[in-house]
Amino acid sequence: MPELPEVEVVRAGLERHVLGAQITAVDVLHPRPVRRDPRGPEGFAAALVGRRLTAARRRGKYFWLALDNGDALLGHLGMSGQMLVQPPQAPPERHLRVRFALSGAAEGRELRFVDQRMFGGLLVSTDGADLPAEIAHIARDPLDPEFDDEDFVRRARRRTSGIKRLLLDQNLISGVGNIYADEALWRARVHGDRPGDRLTGVRLRQVLGEARLVMTDALGQGGTSFDALYVNVNGESGYFDRSLHAYGRAGEPCDRCGAPIRRIAFMNRSSYFCPVCQPAPRRPRRPGQRRSPV
Ligand SMILES: [Zn+2]
Repeated sequence: MPELPEVEVVRAGLERHVLGAQITAVDVLHPRPVRRDPRGPEGFAAALVGRRLTAARRRGKYFWLALDNGDALLGHLGMSGQMLVQPPQAPPERHLRVRFALSGAAEGRELRFVDQRMFGGLLVSTDGADLPAEIAHIARDPLDPEFDDEDFVRRARRRTSGIKRLLLDQNLISGVGNIYADEALWRARVHGDRPGDRLTGVRLRQVLGEARLVMTDALGQGGTSFDALYVNVNGESGYFDRSLHAYGRAGEPCDRCGAPIRRIAFMNRSSYFCPVCQPAPRRPRRPGQRRSPV
């Protein structure tokens, strides 16, 4: 599943390869990826033909291309989506869903949305060039220069949910995802069930800093695909093989203390942690229990 660094690779690739181009034709090969556009597949295409691409932006795991009329082409990669820049004569990919012919700055190139499982999608957001209304509720991500660390710490410290749940709360912080949350918590030596209001500002800043480092590392390693004229995302960057300390390593020794990494169920997914480096909170608090039991 593409995580935020992969989506940032896509955004940067679009910025490099298709900015300034004009969309000359849109071919929707399967209706599902444009299901969230109220115009329907034909209206979706009509709203894009003739438009020029003026910027490539991102909020969390959503990316969008600003259009010269103030609208935006908004996209999400879902579980398996890819945005490819290809020569038009390149054979169609097996799961090609939408193709955009381009002229001008990207003459002789085609933008292609490829998605096997089709949890991702595209829509035209009216007046969405600066920030699409559909995603305005999503918080900034820690790689965003305008992310406010102190505001995150203040808000997290008012919450009784576990820190992992907070890291996955898109209204508080976006783009962290299950893998990066587990890795950040392992690095900060914090158990994911520790409630926000029981963590100090120092600890929360540390967790946030580790999340940012993990994501920056992944971004650096995904960045190699910038140079190709092939903007690709498949969620299987080499990062996952080389650099993970906790995620997916159940039963393997902790890289810090040697204790076996443990896996527990978490919100229909899994959490991985070191039971020694990241001790579980001693007593889950019940509603009405006092903040300080001493
Ligand atoms: Zn350990």
